[in-house]
Amino acid sequence: MSAVSDITTVPRATGIDTLAANNSLEPTINNPPSFRGRVIIAGAGPTGLFLAYKLAKSGINIDLLERLPDISDAPRAAGYYGATLLALKDAGLLDLAAQRGYLVNALGWRTTVQDDALGNKTWGRLLCHIPFSQASEQRPELGMLVLPQPKLCQLLKEQIHALNSTMPGAVSFHFNAELCGVLDDGDSVLATVRHQKTGVKHTLRGDLFVGADGGKSKARELLGIKLQGHTWPERMIAADVMLRNVDLPPVVQAHFVVHPVHFAMVIPLERPVEGEKTLWRFSMATDPNVTSPEEDLLHEKNIAMMLENYMVGTRTPEYEVVSKTVYHLHQRLANTMATGRCALVGDAAHLNNPVGALGLCTGILDCDALVTVIEMILHEDGPLSLLSAYSDVRRQVFQSFVSPTSTANKLRIHQDPAAADDDWLVRAMQDPTPEVLHEFIKPYLTVWRSDMRAILAAQVKRDKPTPAQFEAEDTVDVI
Ligand SMILES: Cc1cc2nc3c(=O)[nH]c(=O)nc-3n(C[C@H](O)[C@H](O)[C@H](O)COP(=O)(O)OP(=O)(O)OC[C@H]3O[C@@H](n4cnc5c(N)ncnc54)[C@H](O)[C@@H]3O)c2cc1C
Repeated sequence: MSAVSDITTVPRATGIDTLAANNSLEPTINNPPSFRGRVIIAGAGPTGLFLAYKLAKSGINIDLLERLPDISDAPRAAGYYGATLLALKDAGLLDLAAQRGYLVNALGWRTTVQDDALGNKTWGRLLCHIPFSQASEQRPELGMLVLPQPKLCQLLKEQIHALNSTMPGAVSFHFNAELCGVLDDGDSVLATVRHQKTGVKHTLRGDLFVGADGGKSKARELLGIKLQGHTWPERMIAADVMLRNVDLPPVVQAHFVVHPVHFAMVIPLERPVEGEKTLWRFSMATDPNVTSPEEDLLHEKNIAMMLENYMVGTRTPEYEVVSKTVYHLHQRLANTMATGRCALVGDAAHLNNPVGALGLCTGILDCDALVTVIEMILHEDGPLSLLSAYSDVRRQVFQSFVSPTSTANKLRIHQDPAAADDDWLVRAMQDPTPEVLHEFIKPYLTVWRSDMRAILAAQVKRDKPTPAQFEAEDTVDVI
């Protein structure tokens, strides 16, 4: 099948800032003998980098296209848990990630801060919390890791460079390279990139192509794939704020703020120490009735006014806003995550509101599933239709788990705290037994991650039952 393209003439490798071996139009010519297959990935965000690292490690050459001059340092996601930690562990990255981040003690739900009428603000009422005390070095998946997205990307980039030094040419980075065309010619995929500064176009050839180019994915558009769903009326302001820690609660520092309008997520981006300065992330909902332009929302005075709902201590605490951004919340899913020789991962395939850190984590788990399928196609002569199986499985995970869970998470904090007291999760997490905690975490360890080999093997068994299975089914019918 062939996908949409805007491919023009094909000058070779001019003007593209390429850090490792260039893709020529004879892709496998210079490959070390251990490599089999070449995959082009558009987007060197966290999912593109993770996918590139995993595929290169298993002996597949990668061309990684990124329109920016380097990986992005925009402050975005920061929390990883459940099966995502297992996926990082299986990739050999968890220890490194844990060294650069930290494991939170608990995740709480609170009301907005309270004014004691004496010039001080104290933490809001704690409605409930999930303790992560069961997490250990052996069972990190029972905890939650905080590591700002740019630090994860930096770590992945370093690991890819390390891989390139032992397996030369494993991953070719192409910076300033904006994807502008994709053509699936039936035997291979051609991806055209435009150099961001010179405008020169250049075409790369690969066996497969993956769009990991984020929510406004050009790959998705070029492949003619629709993103269906809705956008929530609220916008969120994400502000990274350096402040001195005062009255630090001993256990529940990372927390959601439950409020009918100004719901929020408050999380220290480094392990906080009483009296010392720490960078905190305040993700604060704006009133949907306020339709001011973004620059007004980001105005110093507006940010200061909003922060008053969430910062404890004196009424005029000392702090410095290090970065700030406004973003929209979506619940959207691509109508397919694969077509022909092309697939989508991460935000290019789906978007959900950020309450509960299900966005980036789901993207990492897409890559985890896609790597297996790509290995089966390129190394085990599996059919291309495995990409459709990947699409079906991951879309089902989004529809049945990620989207409803993140929707419920948002609605839970977007309400009156008195009503939240009646919420099943709030009640369950008021003093949970280990069994209750286990029940709660189970889907995050099972449903969320897709073991493609096991799923495909089960499908074969179901679609082509053995004679013994027929007999068993006949017996059931007779009874
Ligand atoms: C402000 C903010 C806060 C967030 N907070 C959270 C959170 O707390 N928890 C959570 O789980 N998620 C959160 N998210 C979502 C999370 O950041 C995303 O899920 C994550 O970035 C998705 O990673 P990705 O690699 O799929 O896409 P991206 O991170 O968007 O990376 C895509 C890459 O592709 C590149 N690119 C784009 N177009 C092209 C092109 N045509 N050619 C070449 N390259 C291209 C981009 O430059 C970028 O580097 C947040 C998002 C935002 C915006």
